[in-house]
Amino acid sequence: MTDVSTALISAAYIVAALLFILSLAGLSKHETARDGNVLGMIGMAIALVATLWLALRDAAWGNWVAIIVAMTIGASIGIWRARRVEMTGMPELIAMLHSFVGAAAVLVGINTYLADVGGGDAVHLVEIFLGVFIGAVTFTGSIVAFLKLSARISSKPLMLPARHWMNLAALVASTALLVWFVASHSIVPLLLMLAIALAFGWHLVASIGGGDMPVVVSMLNSYSGWAAAAAGFMLGNDLLIVTGALVGSSGAYLSYIMCKAMNRSFVSVIAGGFGSDGAVSNADVDYGEHRETSAAEVADLLTHSSSVVITPGYGMAVAQAQYPVAELTAKLRERGVDVRFGIHPVAGRLPGHMNVLLAEARVPYDIVLEMDEINPDLPDTDVVLVIGANDTVNPAAAEDPTSPIAGMPVLEVWKAREVVVFKRSMAAGYAGVQNPLFFRDNSAMLFGDAKERVEDIIKAL
Ligand code: NDP
Repeated sequence: MTDVSTALISAAYIVAALLFILSLAGLSKHETARDGNVLGMIGMAIALVATLWLALRDAAWGNWVAIIVAMTIGASIGIWRARRVEMTGMPELIAMLHSFVGAAAVLVGINTYLADVGGGDAVHLVEIFLGVFIGAVTFTGSIVAFLKLSARISSKPLMLPARHWMNLAALVASTALLVWFVASHSIVPLLLMLAIALAFGWHLVASIGGGDMPVVVSMLNSYSGWAAAAAGFMLGNDLLIVTGALVGSSGAYLSYIMCKAMNRSFVSVIAGGFGSDGAVSNADVDYGEHRETSAAEVADLLTHSSSVVITPGYGMAVAQAQYPVAELTAKLRERGVDVRFGIHPVAGRLPGHMNVLLAEARVPYDIVLEMDEINPDLPDTDVVLVIGANDTVNPAAAEDPTSPIAGMPVLEVWKAREVVVFKRSMAAGYAGVQNPLFFRDNSAMLFGDAKERVEDIIKAL
């Protein structure tokens, strides 16, 4: 009986792992993303049932009850949070969830050590040590990311003196503690490393500026995968190893793609902003006067245009303006205007944030283009509507080598004939950098909530 159930559990694990791989493949394209999610959910359901069966097969009734009570409480909190969270709150929720994976890896590591009293052979001890290290870095790093993304602390980079030396010292000290741990089997080096790793994770993310946060979020995603894989090794659970490795490697690849898109060095960003000189925003520079416009004037401008590009940003998510934006798009297209969207790879606060919002509002996929696809067409575009975007359309990135976002490719909207910027004030974007676009002769500001202003334009049309 036990052999049959072991074989069934192994088969379930293989099916779940395959579903996770298919899920990742599905998530790589708009058209298949929804199906990819469904496959992932089915895989996770199979994995959960099989793991529960494995854990409880020979367990006492007391353990069954404890696990089911814990799962019910956890699932209830998860469902409650997921139902309440706004789309704009997703990034910080994800950062928070990553911190749980880190905390779990730390707890599994310490528990494995204590359960084995001394931890067994050298390989097992190294597994425990690495699991606790990665878990602790993920835990505090994700908490700082949560605090930064939810604006509870400033998104400015923390520039401690000799910060790179401190990071290096933490790594060297942890390596020495690993040697001590394996040689002595004592818990002291494990706990000392835990304290260092907690501080190291906190410092790594604290020293990264707002503009580089997208890479940090995907890097923490990757770390949480490696932390889960490490927990899989400690628990001897093959599926956790496979799943952790999938999350870890796809997160690392996503970070690499984002670094390339932002023209940042991958190593510099993961090393805690290495190479950043701590440049400050250009708030004091006098760019001249800005020009204000009204919804009626924008409606008139659109009526006389033949090509329009919409570049959405975080403000569209805040305002939930995607529905009126989709309606405006449909109305203009009915009138024969060529409307397309230009999406910056780090627009919003999540990879793919804008694509998700536009898909939700049923904007056709074929008019939603990547930054590299739309940029060459912008000089021949009549009007660009910048809806709640700021850093991702900032010409300072291309023109001012002293800017904190210098070198980051941006949507070159200023090259269009007319630009209308939808935002509530002249405030800077997430990276804290003033935007000279607002003061250009061909730019006009349409102040107010993006959703209300787009609705006003639809009425005026
Ligand atoms: P920004 O965050 O630079 O700017 C958004 C703008 O939207 C603000 O200037 C704000 O101006 C405006 N806004 C806010 N609410 C509203 C509203 N209700 N109506 C109208 N406007 C509004 O946006 P971008 O998308 O251009 O850039 C994303 C930034 O976030 C980049 O710096 C990126 O590096 C960073 N980031 C991205 C992540 C990702 O994975 N995509 C993750 C973490 C960070 P005002 O207050 O005046 O209205």
